[in-house]
Order: sequence, then C-alpha cells, then structure tokens
Amino acid sequence: MKRFAQSFAGRLLIALMAIQLLVSPVALWGVYRLIESELHDRFIDYSRREAAQYSHMVVANPDPAGIAALLDDLVLSGALCSASMVAVNGKATGPASTCAGNVFVEDFKFGEHGDDTYSVQIRAGKAGNLQLGFDEAPVNARLAEIARSLLYAGAAWITVVLALAAVVGVRLSRSLKHLSHSARVVAAGGVTETLLLNSPISEVASLSRDLESMRISLVQGAQELREMNLQLLSARDEANRAAYFDALTGLPNRTLFRFRAEALIAQARRMKNCLAFLFIDLDRFKHVNDSLGHLVGDELLKALATRLGKTLRESDLIARLGGDEFAIVLPNITSLDDARRIAAKVLAVIERPINIDGRELHISASIGISAFPQDGAELQTLVKQADIAMYKAKDSGRNNVRVFSADMAHEAEARMRTENELRAALRNNEFVLHYQPQYREGNPPELIGAEALIRWQHPTRGLLSPFYFIAVAEDTGLIVPVGQWVLGETCRQISAWRDEGFTIFRVAVNVSVTQLKQADFAVQVRRLLESFDLTPDAIEIEITESVMLEPHENIVDNLNDLKALGVHMTIDDFGTGFSGLATLTRMPVHKIKIDQSFVHDMSGGALGAAIVRTTIALAKNLSLEIIAEGVETTEQRDMLIQMGCNNMQGYLYSRPISASALAALLRPSSQSTEYLAV
Ligand code: C2E
Ligand code: MG
Ligand code: MG
Repeated sequence: MKRFAQSFAGRLLIALMAIQLLVSPVALWGVYRLIESELHDRFIDYSRREAAQYSHMVVANPDPAGIAALLDDLVLSGALCSASMVAVNGKATGPASTCAGNVFVEDFKFGEHGDDTYSVQIRAGKAGNLQLGFDEAPVNARLAEIARSLLYAGAAWITVVLALAAVVGVRLSRSLKHLSHSARVVAAGGVTETLLLNSPISEVASLSRDLESMRISLVQGAQELREMNLQLLSARDEANRAAYFDALTGLPNRTLFRFRAEALIAQARRMKNCLAFLFIDLDRFKHVNDSLGHLVGDELLKALATRLGKTLRESDLIARLGGDEFAIVLPNITSLDDARRIAAKVLAVIERPINIDGRELHISASIGISAFPQDGAELQTLVKQADIAMYKAKDSGRNNVRVFSADMAHEAEARMRTENELRAALRNNEFVLHYQPQYREGNPPELIGAEALIRWQHPTRGLLSPFYFIAVAEDTGLIVPVGQWVLGETCRQISAWRDEGFTIFRVAVNVSVTQLKQADFAVQVRRLLESFDLTPDAIEIEITESVMLEPHENIVDNLNDLKALGVHMTIDDFGTGFSGLATLTRMPVHKIKIDQSFVHDMSGGALGAAIVRTTIALAKNLSLEIIAEGVETTEQRDMLIQMGCNNMQGYLYSRPISASALAALLRPSSQSTEYLAV
C-alpha cells in the first residue's frame, strides 16, 4: 500500500481524489443553488399568477359568502394551504412588489416562517386583501430529489475520474517501470537493451525515444572510452616497461632492480636469511662493439641475457644495470659456497661460444660477490662491495670470480684516495720525469737515447714510482692528462737541452692505449713537436702489445698518422702480451723492446735464452730494430751481444736519472766514460 502510495500511479490517484473531494462539493453546491433559485423564481411566478387570478375571481364575485365558498373550495382542492380575506386600511402590510399591475405583499423566501408555506397578499377590490398560502413542500421535495441526483452524479463522476486515473496511472507506471528496468540493464552493461517503448501516452513515448537516443550515444561514448582506455593501458604498460625494463634484453633495469633487490634484502632481514649479490661485467665487451659493431654487441647481450635467465631459478633476481653490467641477487643462500658455485656456473654459461649471424663469438666475464648480512645491510653497500670484488676479479686476469673481503675495501679506498691525489698532483704540478739512458754496446758504449719515466713528487710520501699510480691513472682515465703532461714535458726538456747546446737524441715516451684511443692523439703530438720546433725523430712512442690486441680504429689511425709524421714507435715489454705475429707485421712499428723478465730469465735456463734469441731473430727477419731492457749484469749483456742485440737499457748502464743528471751525460766528455755508477 505504501509502495503504491509512493508510486506515480498512486500519487496521481491520491492527487485526483483530493482535487475531486475539494472541487466536487463546491461545484455540486453551486449547481444546486442555481437550480434552487430557478425553482424558487418559477414558484413565485406561478404563485403570483394564481394569486392574481383568484383576486380577479374575488373581485368578480363580491358576495362575501361566495368569496368564503370560493376560498374554501380553493383550500379543499389542495391548490392552496390557506386562503382568507384581510381587511385593509388603505395600505398593504409587509413587503410589496408588483406583478402585472397587482401589488403583492409576500414573503420571499422558502421556509421563511418555518411552515413550508409561501404567503401572498393581493388586493381584491373592495373586499379587502386576499391572503393566500401556497404550499412550498413540492418545491422542497423537488429540490431534495435534485440534490440527491446531484450527489449520485458527483459520486459517479468521482468514480469515473478515479477509474480513469487508475487506468492511466497503471499504464504510465508500467511504462516507467519498463523504462527503469531497461535503464538498469543498460547500466549493468546490457548495451543491446533498447529503451524504446510503444506507449499510447505520447509524452512517455517521446521520453523513451529521447532516452533511447541518449542510450545509443552513451553506448557509443562508452565504446570510444573503452578503446581509449585500452590505448591508455597499453601506453601505460609501455611506459612501465620502458621505466623498469631494459629495452634490449627485456631484463629488469637498474630502477626495477633497486626496488626488487631492496625488497629481497628486507625479506632476508625479516627471515634472518643470507643473500648473495653477484656483480657481472663482461670482459673486453668494448672490443666486440668496436670491432664487430654495436648491432653484434647488442645481439650478444641479448643472447647472454636469455642464457642467464635459463640458468638461474625463478626466485633469483637478474637485471642489466647498463652497458655490459649485469647483477644477480640470490635470495636465501645457506653459504657463500652456494654463491661461488652459481657464479662459476654463470661464468661457464657466458663462456660458451655464441653464434651470431653465422659468426662464433667468445666472451668471458668477471664476477664479484658480496653477501648480506656480513658485507653490509644496505643494497648500496652490497653493490659497491660486489663491484670492488668484480674489479679484483678483472685485475686477477678476468674470467674470474672474487668474493668481497675487507682487504679489498681497503685497497679500493686506497685507489680512491690515489685518484683524488692524482687530480691534485696534476693541478699542483707534482710530477717529474726521470730519464733512463739507452746505449749501443761497443767500446765504449754509445749513448743512443733515453726513456722518459714518470715519477710523482708526493707531498707526504716522497718520490713515488709509477708502480703506485699508473694503474689507477689508467683505470680512471687520468692517464690521458698525465700522458699529455709527460709528452709536453719531454718535448720541453729536449728543446731546453738543444737550446743549451747539447747534441740531442731520441727520447722514448710511454704512451697508454687510452691515449691512443683519442681521435686527435697524432695531431696533439704533431702540434707539440711544432710548438717546440722539434723534428719528429726527437721522440719515440713506446706502446705495449695490448695496443695491438685492441682493434680500435682510432688506435690504428693514430699509429698510421704518427708513422706518416715520421715518429718512431717501439713495442714495449715485448713477449708479455701474447700478440700474434700477423698483428705484429701489420703494425707500423720500428722497434721491439725485449721485456726485462725475459732478460732476467735468460741466464736461468735454456728456455729463457731461447725466447730472447727467437725475439731477436724475429725482429731481424721483420727488419725491426731491437733493444733489451732490464739489463743488470755483464753476463746478460754478453749473452745479448752474442745473440745479436747490441742496444741496451738497464741498471748495468744507468738507473733512470734526473734531467740535469742526464744533461751531464750529454757532454762530450761523458760519452767515453765507464758505465754510470748509480
Ligand atoms: P717500462 O716502460 O717497461 O719501463 C721500464 C721500467 O723498468 C722502469 O720502471 C725502469 O725503471 C725499470 N728498469 C729499467 N732498467 C731496469 C733494470 O735493470 N732492472 C729493473 N729491475 N728494472 C729496470 P719504472 O720507471 O718504475 O716504470 C715502470 C713502468 O711504468 C714502465 O715500464 C711503464 O710501463 C710505466 N711508465 C713509466 N712512465 C710512464 C709514463 O710516462 N707513461 C705511461 N703510460 N707509463 C709509464
Ligand atoms: Mg717503457
Ligand atoms: Mg718495459
């Protein structure tokens, strides 16, 4: 009932009932009053006409007995309630009105006297006034009947209206219910549900049409939104991938690695577990890129990433940190041996030949391991320490695994300190050059040149040998400015000697691979020579065999340009770098320097001597000059002479000495003296 009262049909019915209840009684009452006044007027007219007629009859029959009989007859006939003659004293009593020339004295209202009688006085000639009483009851009865009829009609009207409202309400409510149901279906995703209604109520039909067209545009809009949403989702996925995954290998990148590794560390901390961190750096990956191109390098990285993914467990975290660096987190290990075992497995997997475009490539890696919690509690520390261990692995010959230790950290710290001090040394001009003379054996030995060797006048540690800092300078790239200083200082010194009137000779300068990789190295040398007004044969460049192993195009260009310039080049420490003969013949070098380790081994056995003899023969066959370094004894000197090498450098002749000490040797008198005692 309550629901019906709240429904549209219910409210319509209630509203109509209320309107009907208010309006209908008023309307009926109005109608009733109209009819009543009409009947009243007609009754008065009728009464007056009758009264006038009776008055004429009285006037026509002036006999009082006759009048009395007439009046009795009228009353008896039922036409009147009462009829009598009243005496007149010249004036009618009561209210008067006229009708057809007669003067009436009458009461106007029904029931005025409460006797249902309408009284009329009318002049009846000399006999006096005729007072007549007309019965109002028939009129009242008629009025009562009319009132009843009106009531019935009103009730019937209300019923009809209510019935109509009910029918319309029910139909409306059914249509609205249908619309509401369909709307709910549409809202729930029923996109095919129609809101079109075949309603006889035009407003409802039009509303349903409007709703249907709204539904169609909403469905279209929703479709477009869904498509846009899909595009947005895929764009978001793409952005996520780009932000968290390495585009080349598909492995987690540095950012995602940090999140996941930190979560694994937190978990290990909670569960009181151990966790190992492996830092992997490919050995000489740059060579692959430089020699075979970046595309091949990329393919190699991809292949390695796939291999690593297959080798490790799903619970292990593997990421590419950038370039040729990969990181692995091994959660929940029981001992460092586990980590070592897995690292060895990883090395073996990397070492397997990889076939790219029909070409078989070989690569190795160096791996550093650090462990949680013993090596550090934070990811950053663990990464740093695994990195230190990895460098140690590289130092110890690459293709190696090293586990972090406190000593390594101290060493790394010392390296860092040295790096900072080296920068300061460059700024403060703390480097000095010493020169080690080179002699051609004879009687007396002839001074043919010198090798410039750097020393560092350290503010607290005194004069330091290159042994303490060259490796750090190489690793940090500081060897480039240091090497530039050496070249510049050598040229300056040679020109100073020349200006002092000394006969100058060729001074050998050690040049690092890193320097030769600079595109403009040969140009730098040419400019230096020009700026000191030196001929190209004033200096000689010493390169190690490692230069030949690096197929960097700048190196090859620089060597060719230097040769074209007329600068001589020597392969230093020959025999220690495993360079192939083919490479040696291709390089534009003039001289080979037998490494001091072979010179020292020479007297130790047949093999040592054989290596030196072979090297000398090789140089002769390739028409290269030859010199031996590290000659300390006369025995070594004699063996070398006997094998065909007359050019010597070593403590037997002179240790590296200062520029001023060398200047003393340059005097003609010093040329013929015995070996320098140092
Ligand atoms: P290196 O170019 O092979 O230089 C020869 C090294 O052997 C020098 O050590 C020299 O003092 C040492 N030596 C010479 N004769 C003898 C000997 O009879 N017995 C022994 N035991 N040693 C001898 P130094 O000066 O300590 O230089 C070490 C290395 O440092 C050099 O080896 C070179 O590779 C590097 N180096 C020195 N100066 C420079 C430089 O200016 N630039 C670069 N890139 N490297 C340099
Ligand atoms: Mg050298
Ligand atoms: Mg050497």
